[in-house]
Amino acid sequence: MDFELPGDLADFRAELRARLRELLPDGLRAKALAGRRLQREDYLEWQRILHAAGWGAVHWPRQWGGCDWDASRVALFDEECALAGAPRQLPFGLKMLAPVLLRFGTPAQRERFLPPIIEGREWWCQGYSEPGSGSDLASLRTRAVRDGDDYVVDGLKTWTTLAQHADWMFCLVRTDPEARPQAGISFLLVDMHAPGVQVRPIRLLDGEHEVNEVWLDGVRVPASQRVGEPEQGWGIAKYLLGHERTNIAGIGVVKRELERLRELASRPDARGRRALDDALLRSDIAELELELLALETTQSRMLQPGSAPGAEASLLKVVGSRLQQRASELLVRVAGARALPFQPEAFDPPAGFEPAAGDDYALLAAQYANWRKVSIYGGSNEIQLNLLARAMGL
Ligand SMILES: Cc1cc2nc3c(=O)[nH]c(=O)nc-3n(C[C@H](O)[C@H](O)[C@H](O)COP(=O)(O)OP(=O)(O)OC[C@H]3O[C@@H](n4cnc5c(N)ncnc54)[C@H](O)[C@@H]3O)c2cc1C
Repeated sequence: MDFELPGDLADFRAELRARLRELLPDGLRAKALAGRRLQREDYLEWQRILHAAGWGAVHWPRQWGGCDWDASRVALFDEECALAGAPRQLPFGLKMLAPVLLRFGTPAQRERFLPPIIEGREWWCQGYSEPGSGSDLASLRTRAVRDGDDYVVDGLKTWTTLAQHADWMFCLVRTDPEARPQAGISFLLVDMHAPGVQVRPIRLLDGEHEVNEVWLDGVRVPASQRVGEPEQGWGIAKYLLGHERTNIAGIGVVKRELERLRELASRPDARGRRALDDALLRSDIAELELELLALETTQSRMLQPGSAPGAEASLLKVVGSRLQQRASELLVRVAGARALPFQPEAFDPPAGFEPAAGDDYALLAAQYANWRKVSIYGGSNEIQLNLLARAMGL
């Protein structure tokens, strides 16, 4: 079900839908839709295809190769990419760092770092969280000490998504240990290939290697790779988090999963019965659809030209993540016992591999386990609710 859009946006959506389906290679689409393991090259290939089509960074200014689309067009683009079954465009460089560089970076930093992001040549990761400093991010302890033209960085970052593929990490570090926590932080760009950087995998519930620890041991970072002034890092970090939260509302993803849910629920089983014949399930699916429509309406009201994401970003994140999790729960309910066999080979199936319950069910339970993360990353939902309460003066 599509949210009803005014004429020009409806045409825009139709054009996106048709073109994205032409651009996306079938193999990549099948892999992403089945939830199989995507490699570095898969993500970068999609980025390069989009870039060649002029859509590498639709929210960036034209001067940097973007389309300068307003927030509602960007949201439609993200949604249509998800519906088409594309791998997600990695947000770390494109949607988190780029707005920071455009606002706080030097001309030299923009020249150096923006083109490889849009062209799919360099991969970024986010070095914010540390053990004991997740929700309480300002307590972070990674130290950067000035030594001539460099900083020397020591510490440990954790939960760093896909750092195993990264060329660069934007990183919060403590440069003034005497100042109060928020006032002693700077924002550095760390070369992941520099001596002293070590990436160690953390396995998630589904057994996959998606997040990491990043150990920093005497890593030299040129001071020219600091963004903003020394000790301005906290303001920059908060600016970036606002962008991160709008990106994880995941409306397109929930729509795509709803389509899948309806399809699987309408299939007859061996005895000719369909999950959709169950009135309770139909009611739960309808409720999810309605809540999604309400979220879309809310998002479209918020994303007016010129508006900057503020406390509203928290609302989109909380509701969007709940709906993603609800969709994955319903999918497992529809699959029933077919979701039970867990065969890790299904993530990267060798030739001739036949999943026990068939391709459509092979990774549903893994996805259900994996998606517990969406209410944690980007700032947990409990923290978002605290932010919303504060914004409402409660
Ligand atoms: C899959 C995944 C990917 C991630 N990727 C990255 C990444 O790429 N880069 C990065 O820097 N970080 C990343 N993170 C880290 C993420 O931002 C943190 O996990 C998150 O901020 C929560 O911090 P924490 O894990 O330390 O939990 P804690 O802060 O210890 O919180 C534990 C629990 O207590 C609750 N809680 C804490 N404080 C309060 C409070 N004041 N009021 C109410 N409840 C509270 C939390 O909601 C949570 O339920 C990722 C996390 C996950 C799970």
